[in-house]
Amino acid sequence: MTKEENIAAFDKIKNQVLDSIDSFIYTKDLFGKYTYANQAVLNLFEKNLAEVIGFDDSHFFDLALSTELQINDRLVMDQAIRVESEESNFIKAKNEMHIYKVVKKPLYNSEGIVDGMCGISTDITAEKKLQEQVNEQSYLLDTMLNNIDAHIYVKDCERTFLYVNNRVAKLFGNNAENIIGKKDTEILPKEVAEHFYQSDKQVFSTNKKQVIEETTESDDGETCHYISTKVPFNRPDKLPALIGFSTDVTELFNLKEEFKKRANTDPLTNLYNRRFFTKQAGREYQRAKRYSLSMTLMSIDIDHFKSINDQYGHPAGDQVLIKVAKQLQENLRQTDILARIGGEEFSILLPETSSQSAMIFAERIRENQSKLTITGDWQGSITLSVSIGISSFLSSDVAFDDLFSRADKALYQAKNSGRNKVFYL
Ligand code: GH3
Ligand code: MG
Ligand code: MG
Repeated sequence: MTKEENIAAFDKIKNQVLDSIDSFIYTKDLFGKYTYANQAVLNLFEKNLAEVIGFDDSHFFDLALSTELQINDRLVMDQAIRVESEESNFIKAKNEMHIYKVVKKPLYNSEGIVDGMCGISTDITAEKKLQEQVNEQSYLLDTMLNNIDAHIYVKDCERTFLYVNNRVAKLFGNNAENIIGKKDTEILPKEVAEHFYQSDKQVFSTNKKQVIEETTESDDGETCHYISTKVPFNRPDKLPALIGFSTDVTELFNLKEEFKKRANTDPLTNLYNRRFFTKQAGREYQRAKRYSLSMTLMSIDIDHFKSINDQYGHPAGDQVLIKVAKQLQENLRQTDILARIGGEEFSILLPETSSQSAMIFAERIRENQSKLTITGDWQGSITLSVSIGISSFLSSDVAFDDLFSRADKALYQAKNSGRNKVFYL
């Protein structure tokens, strides 16, 4: 092969290579007229080589909509610099706007003077669109996660936070950027981090969603309650992680507790009410029966309470009930259950207590109540007495009611024998 033939063969291969590349490769002279265009360019313009060479971009692009293209070409040729940038070009043949990543360089003649330019452009329209979608979704997700009424976080099995929303950051008193990438032990007090980790471990060991009630103490010492849902988050070639959603249910929790308390409490004296007493007594009765334990019940009724009301008025009667209740509360053991059963009637359930010791206790109550002198918004001071009926659990009893009616009978006897007495049945 001659040297010329060699060059021709090489040029052919070069053209084949350039034509097989998907990127757009081209050269232009100082007037912006094409001096070379690879096949990709011809395909894009929907022209053959003869229709491109010698023509400038006004034939192929809507230049009014392709401003960066002209700016970049001028920069390259006027200032002899390499330009790497993005161009949005409107292609006439396709009637479409496309985004390109372009690299443009000056071309020099044999005297070293710029006499044109060459460029490689890659269509990144699809990637750009995808990137825009990803950005939009990420913005949307961020906005949602930061405005939702929940604490949301992602944590891996080595306790490193991978994500926290603004609420979590605020709860931890830190910025999200300072938390992400750090372990819970670096961010939270040791006990709190450990408390959270206990339920995290359940997610990692079961690889199943967990719904947990969590409690934390806020900076001002307030107890906060959360319902937390923790979901496994597994990705290939990455440490197992979890996504946590915690909702603050403190207000709801406190409200529930308050309702529970109210349902069980007498509002005047703050003692347990009949409802709660009956429920507890039933339980204690079952326990006494199962384990053959002793158990004693005391029914206490204020003597001639009606005449206190009549003499001093109903509000004074209320004050008396409050004072009597307070007096009854004194000397109670932790396990004793005191309740206001009705108007001026009270009951005390004494688990694991014999009738003898209950009698001594009842005597003390009777004596203390008779020593009460109650003053208030009325003339003089009110004194009172109580009658007490006692009954103890018998193995022949079939229900708590048996005990209750015996105590009632004992109380009736105490009343009948002159009041201010303790009777046992
Ligand atoms: P006894 O010695 O036989 O027990 O006589 P008593 O007057 O204490 O008994 P009685 O059952 O005849 O009267 C109870 C009174 O308690 C009648 C009722 O008006 C009053 N009472 C009930 N609940 C309340 C209350 O919440 N406040 C006030 N001030 N009085 C109440
Ligand atoms: Mg009474
Ligand atoms: Mg009564």
